[in-house]
Amino acid sequence: MRKPKILVLGAGYAGMMTTKKLSQQLRPDEADITLVNKHNYHYLTTWLHEVAAGTATPNSSRVMISDVVNTKRVQLHFDSVVEIKKDEQRVILENGELSYDYLVIALGFETATFGIPGIKEHALKIENINSSRYIRDHIEFQFARYSSSDEKNEDALNILVGGAGFTGIEFVGELAKRVPELCKEYNVPREKVRIINVEAAPNILPGFDEELVEYAQKSLEERGVEFRIGTKIQKCTEEGFIVGDDHEEIKAGTVVWTGGVQANPVVQQSGFELVKGKVNVDGDLRVPGHDNIFIIGDCSWVMDKENDRPYPANAQSAIQEAETCASNLTSLLRNEELQDFSFDYKGTVASLGGADAMGTILDDKKLYGMKAKAMKNIIDDRYLFLVGGPKLVLKKGKVKFF
Ligand code: FAD
Ligand code: NAD
Repeated sequence: MRKPKILVLGAGYAGMMTTKKLSQQLRPDEADITLVNKHNYHYLTTWLHEVAAGTATPNSSRVMISDVVNTKRVQLHFDSVVEIKKDEQRVILENGELSYDYLVIALGFETATFGIPGIKEHALKIENINSSRYIRDHIEFQFARYSSSDEKNEDALNILVGGAGFTGIEFVGELAKRVPELCKEYNVPREKVRIINVEAAPNILPGFDEELVEYAQKSLEERGVEFRIGTKIQKCTEEGFIVGDDHEEIKAGTVVWTGGVQANPVVQQSGFELVKGKVNVDGDLRVPGHDNIFIIGDCSWVMDKENDRPYPANAQSAIQEAETCASNLTSLLRNEELQDFSFDYKGTVASLGGADAMGTILDDKKLYGMKAKAMKNIIDDRYLFLVGGPKLVLKKGKVKFF
């Protein structure tokens, strides 16, 4: 009998953990497993704001996939997914195609523009290693140009960040650390550089704990971040943002948009129905009407039936969904009953640059400053441990043992 083929698309948090679990749970005679990813490396999406600000290098934030996946058990295929032909059980790649019996779609996010004019064309985005490295280089280029030209365009040094959700806040936190270093390197007075974070909601980090939000804002303002809250971005131009009802212009040489995320465009292009930018999957993580297709991570919403709203879509849930997905795929192959996903919320911790951070853990215990930063490092390293064991923690980990 022909062995079933499992295809996992995307080697992010969701795809890597699904592949890892499948390779541990399924016997070689039960199924062939193939992991498809654009690159031969797995990057840590949750570290990308550091790469974008230049406080971490691209290499420190990625891992060769063949170093952490059992290549005797899993076939690796490095190519870009172009379209999923779900009725034909085929995946079209840039350089070929693959067929499947069971499919896991874990292609992550793209930054949502919400149709705001000019965002797509003019704003930079923290989406992957290369787009983040581009932001880092662009900022440095502005410093180099400013310090070497006779006519000083001071707006060029401004860094404008649209959206003060967790990505925007973590990014401006890293900038608050990096900008003084760049000023020193290029001999630019610190007061010449503005870091401006624009948020439409009345507060930064809308919906998050008030005390922690206040702490974050104060800490960032003390280190030179300017906030424009309750200020909606209407348009993005080559020069900056047009904001608010009076269409004020804020100029900057670097404009970064962190206004929200939606499923990888391949998902919609392949005919899956999107609700608020993602696919609503069933409790067992399969797509309604497609018993052999799972969609996990940032491409889908999973309903929390108790609270009648989706679970948060972040790395924490992507990792947990991967466990349920792998175990449900194993059950499918063994004709056993599938389980519904249940999210075990462990808290939210955000870095604020340098040694500062804030957040909640376990039963909503609040952490601030260095304690929170230590917790953030532990969270980052825990994932490295899950994906690559102690060897990877020693190689790439943030907690220093020596
Ligand atoms: P990803 O991890 O983004 O992986 C997607 C994978 O698919 C990538 O390997 C990509 O190369 C690959 N891919 C994409 N398109 C194609 C294609 N066409 N063909 C082949 N391969 C493709 N969440 C938290 O819980 N905690 C945090 O601290 C946190 N910090 C964050 C910081 C930043 C700066 C950002 C941007 C997000 C952060 N998040 C955090 C959210 C979290 O990173 C995402 O929810 C998580 O990465 C989702 O995992 P995923 O596997 O769905 O997607
Ligand atoms: P988000 O949707 O959480 O935040 C986007 C922000 O942009 C919102 O505050 C929104 O009000 C604002 N915005 C949208 N349109 C705007 C406009 N026209 N003008 C001004 N402001 C506008 O997106 P994100 O921050 O990219 O986060 C994506 C996901 O990743 C979330 O689930 C988040 O929790 C997760 N994440 C978690 C962490 C962490 O836990 N440390 C860090 C980063 C991201």
